[in-house]
Amino acid sequence: MKLPDIKILDEKDKRLRLVSKEVTFPLSNEDKKNINDMLEYLKISQMEEWREKYNLRAGMGLSYVQIGIPKRIFVVVDEVEENEFENYILINPKIVSNSEELIYVGEGEGCLSVNREIEGIVPRYARITVTAQDVEGNPFTIRVREDLAIAFQHEIDHLNGILFIDKIDPKNPYKNANKMREI
Ligand code: ZN
Repeated sequence: MKLPDIKILDEKDKRLRLVSKEVTFPLSNEDKKNINDMLEYLKISQMEEWREKYNLRAGMGLSYVQIGIPKRIFVVVDEVEENEFENYILINPKIVSNSEELIYVGEGEGCLSVNREIEGIVPRYARITVTAQDVEGNPFTIRVREDLAIAFQHEIDHLNGILFIDKIDPKNPYKNANKMREI
């Protein structure tokens, strides 16, 4: 497999702090290619053999702003079974409802733009319903839970210039852990 030629911005890059703009349709061919490249990159990063070959970190999601383009697009690749992947492409996503229940990733959230170990928990809704558009501009609604819900919230934060590290109190990184469920 060939690694797509995309450059992921590092957290120090100020472009990651931009609020991404609404997308208009039709998408350009360049946008479509970038979306496919991001999906392919994530898939390769989740396959151990290829991850090692290309010296990558495993990633589940990427937002468009992470490749330097502040448009409201993100993709998530979910490994549903070994080497079997489900792709999600969300354009102009909006969270329209959320559970009361909060969860967090016990081992800590990660981000392909944050290349260091970060300790602490990031509160996320356990379940969310999101409206978005597909690559043709057709609207759809999707309900996600658990790790997928966390990935979607993480990526939607990127579209608003927010990184997961912003949500951790460095003085008390495990604050309120007892009020949430660890996954
Ligand atoms: Zn991220």
